[in-house]
Amino acid sequence: MNCKSCAHHCNISEGHTGICGRRRVVNGELQIPYGSICSLALDPYEKKPLYHFHPGDYVLSFGNLGCNFKCAFCQNWEISQVGKDPDVHGQEQAVTAQQIVNLALAHRANGIAATYNEPLISSEWVTDIFTLAKQNDQPTCLVSNGFASQESLDKLLPVTDAANFDLKCFTEDGYKWLGGRLQVVLDTIKAFHDAGKWVELTTLVVPQFNDSDKELKDIAEFIASLDPSIPWHVSAYHADYKMLDGPQRTPPERLIRAVELAQEAGLHFVYTGNIGGAAAYEDTICPQCGCKLIERRGFKIAANRLQKGRCPNCNALIPGRF
Ligand code: SF4
Repeated sequence: MNCKSCAHHCNISEGHTGICGRRRVVNGELQIPYGSICSLALDPYEKKPLYHFHPGDYVLSFGNLGCNFKCAFCQNWEISQVGKDPDVHGQEQAVTAQQIVNLALAHRANGIAATYNEPLISSEWVTDIFTLAKQNDQPTCLVSNGFASQESLDKLLPVTDAANFDLKCFTEDGYKWLGGRLQVVLDTIKAFHDAGKWVELTTLVVPQFNDSDKELKDIAEFIASLDPSIPWHVSAYHADYKMLDGPQRTPPERLIRAVELAQEAGLHFVYTGNIGGAAAYEDTICPQCGCKLIERRGFKIAANRLQKGRCPNCNALIPGRF
């Protein structure tokens, strides 16, 4: 039986699972992750990270178990590798889409996010929650690796307002090691952008994997070629999962170098993640006049000077949903 929820398009035989380990054929039927979650939290949009999408507002965030990638440096492996790694276990809890939407409304969230694990492996479940969310005027967002099939794009695009996609590296060899394909991810990013959805991108900068000047420059130039207004988040890595040996953290100077390369490529908005203090680039600066528009301290908004989405100094329209 063929599963089309992500771009792996697994052909699954009776009693077996697909690459994600979460979709199984039993008695000739495809069993899918549906009607359950393993994580639920009220997060600021800044934590997704989405910096140009309702800054400072809270989004009800849900996630489940499993992933279609196998990143050795996964920072979320306790839930992502369930079903594939026999040493990793996790627990789900039954819930309905209506209950999730009711919780968002009761807690005055401004939106619902599918995050924590890979939402594309449960595209039907995410689509149904997002459909109900839209009927209740709740914005919706995906946090995903972007390894989408055309079938999942067809389902999710009409009911999704924003997405943060990982752009994990810029070589097909790199993506092969992670368990995906670069071109599919680029096509997904482009599909969301072309459909008018709000898109931000994140690269976890992993020493000796994707932190060369060439690779960071290639990523920045790809983003600039698509739209220099797409925010790019470059985040620090910490040693985790199967990469406990070797470098323990991304040196801050590599993130700063990524910022420089992004600026040289013409990107208007680049942010550092997982580093604090003076080295962090976490504020939104007007690309036209240099006015500091949104000041951040970690996930908190310290000041927001935008006026109806415009710079108060030069009146430039700042891209995003404000
Ligand atoms: S979601 Fe993707 S990895 Fe999982 S079974 Fe379907 S096609 Fe395969």
